[in-house]
Amino acid sequence: MDKTNYNHSIKCTVRECAHHAQGDDYCALSQIMVGSSEPNPTDIKSTDCESFERA
Ligand code: SF4
Repeated sequence: MDKTNYNHSIKCTVRECAHHAQGDDYCALSQIMVGSSEPNPTDIKSTDCESFERA
């Protein structure tokens, strides 16, 4: 994928993800899906980027 496609609307520090724009703290996808693996999300840690893929 094109890692130079910095999506300035999606900041991300998860450099272990295959979609991370490695040169800076951005996602390289045009859009992502955010969700939760918990039935009753209560804080930031309850949310997940469901577009994550292991690099
Ligand atoms: S897909 Fe999600 S985890 Fe991966 S770089 Fe984009 S925002 Fe970060």
